[in-house]
Amino acid sequence: MPEAIAARTFAPSLNIAKLKESATLAVSARAKALRAAGRNIVDLGAGEPDFDTPVYIRRAAQRAIDAGATRYTATEGILPLRQAIADRVALDYHGEDAVSPADIIVSTGSKQSLFNTCFVLFGPDDEVLIPTPSWTSYYEMVTLARATAVPVMGDAGHGLKVSAAMLEAAATARTRGVMLNSPSNPTGAVYSRAELEEIVALCDERGWWLISDEIYRDISYSGRATSVLDVAQNRDRLVVVDGVAKAYAMTGWRIGWAIAPRAVTKAMSALQSHTTSNATSVSQHAALAALTDRAAAEEAVSTMVCEFQARRDLLVASMAREPRLQYVYPDGAFYLYLNVAAVQPDGDAGAAFATHLLERHDVAVVPGAAFLTPDWIRLSYAAPRESVMDGVGRVITAFGELVP
Ligand code: PLP
Repeated sequence: MPEAIAARTFAPSLNIAKLKESATLAVSARAKALRAAGRNIVDLGAGEPDFDTPVYIRRAAQRAIDAGATRYTATEGILPLRQAIADRVALDYHGEDAVSPADIIVSTGSKQSLFNTCFVLFGPDDEVLIPTPSWTSYYEMVTLARATAVPVMGDAGHGLKVSAAMLEAAATARTRGVMLNSPSNPTGAVYSRAELEEIVALCDERGWWLISDEIYRDISYSGRATSVLDVAQNRDRLVVVDGVAKAYAMTGWRIGWAIAPRAVTKAMSALQSHTTSNATSVSQHAALAALTDRAAAEEAVSTMVCEFQARRDLLVASMAREPRLQYVYPDGAFYLYLNVAAVQPDGDAGAAFATHLLERHDVAVVPGAAFLTPDWIRLSYAAPRESVMDGVGRVITAFGELVP
């Protein structure tokens, strides 16, 4: 279609006027396209485990199809799955202030839970504090709700994490909430119990919503990462988002959930009932098996986490070869966040480096601009060990070329 006609037929609505494409997904798409064109690309851009979904989960899904789990379910998700999520919370937090299935809504990935949470809680005139760097979609989700995303830059000397005091300094009378993510994408940093206690207490005191994205909580290397549910005195203004995508290698199944006060899950369910309805029925049964066959889950998750940890250790060891490359020590998730500011001190160093790396060394990484920190790049080690080590070697070589 000639461009002039396209422009006449499509002018984006105000709803998406500021929307940007997901930079992380764009990198993966570019790496796949180059591969399809015959290039031997090492893809360290992807944010998904390189493992197959464990067999016990796949078998459960096959059984569910044969048993007829192919129809609409309740919008908020099948009761056994919501009960299994509630049981998991009770087991983790010893049943204090128990969560019931009515406090849980199952969505099409934790991404939908996060979007729906923002959409029902925030609106015009509201400001939402986002510790930065953060996963690229938080800024867009808050903006889609027509609220204002307020990035709060993390402390470079402290894993790029924010403190309660830093959040407080960025707040205004219009602040309504905070979006937290620990372990963090893109840095792999993990908030300690004491750090979370301070942030939870601040939100409580100010009456802000705290949205805690805990999708990487099972992937942490110094014991299980602390959940805000571990430290919160009450859940009145708390939304915890989680899912099976990362820990169970189930990215494509699209199952996530939010744990929130009942009025919020009700509003989210109403929103979901007019947009996507229930998350895929078969996937809900797969997620149910993932959570309830505890012995199989324990074995599958710990095998994957051990491998991620081994790769993390190898990566960190190899960084010693280029001491000028500063990084955040990764204690969870499967990302290494590297500062490449020296490549282009007065511009978008991360993008310049990522482009050089892809075009000259066939390695895909995500430029830090996607996470509002343009001096950095994110490298994912959710790729086979040899690829990760090969890729990091090329990163070090490329850095040496650009910063002699
Ligand atoms: N939250 C964070 C921090 C993520 O990195 C991702 C995926 O990359 C998601 C949420 C979305 O996960 P899901 O596949 O459950 O939608």
